[in-house]
Amino acid sequence: MINRKSREELKLMKHAGSVVALVHQAMKEAVKPGISTLELDEIAAKVIKENKCIPTFLGYNGFPGCICASINEEVVHGIPSSGRILKEGDIISIDIGATYRGMVGDSAWTYPVGKISKEYEDLLKITELALFNGIAQMKPDNILDDISGAVEDTALGKAENIPADLKGKKYGIVRQYGGHGVGRNMHEDPFLFNYRVNNKTKIKSGYVIAIEPMINLGVDEVVVSAADNWCVSTADNKASAHFEHTVAATEDGPMILTALE
Ligand code: MG
Ligand code: MG
Repeated sequence: MINRKSREELKLMKHAGSVVALVHQAMKEAVKPGISTLELDEIAAKVIKENKCIPTFLGYNGFPGCICASINEEVVHGIPSSGRILKEGDIISIDIGATYRGMVGDSAWTYPVGKISKEYEDLLKITELALFNGIAQMKPDNILDDISGAVEDTALGKAENIPADLKGKKYGIVRQYGGHGVGRNMHEDPFLFNYRVNNKTKIKSGYVIAIEPMINLGVDEVVVSAADNWCVSTADNKASAHFEHTVAATEDGPMILTALE
């Protein structure tokens, strides 16, 4: 069942989301060659706690970090570690959750580490555009497939607003993971695919969905690390990007809850 959030719940989620945005601001400043993903996790934990929120991810199904930190070919669920040091030219996807008075905000962003290749820059550009094209469809009376389709069209080079030099360029779309309802729990109904699945479920005002395209330079397929059973990487070891916002459908249009207040 998809639940509709009340005005009061949306207010709390907006606050939780604004703290997630603050953490992202801190991550953007901290991401540099030489920093470890554990140090990033410590910075995130500090900002979350200073702002009277709970790190949603910590302990979730036993996850040991406050952020997921996934480098290059890693897609999602990278465990922060003192041994993982960022290098010039890497990209890092950082996923952050914060809970405020029982309500969750969830947002991910992929950051360049120093100067990155044009190929990586384009991947980031397209994945961010896929997110915003998806968000634009998050309004009452649209169907879930409108969001999925907007993400898919962007990843496959078919969306109208794709930069001219990337028109027709096809990227891989992660199939096994996707967006989700969010509220009192991090993962609620509905599941949202990042490609069309003919889901005609109507969007209603008060629905809140974490829209989160995961787009790959190469193939769609991903594998879960046998070593830690968490980290998801692309099957061909080519890079992946991940952009996510928590978004409410309202009568006035899509409302991003994970933005600065
Ligand atoms: Mg997330
Ligand atoms: Mg999410």
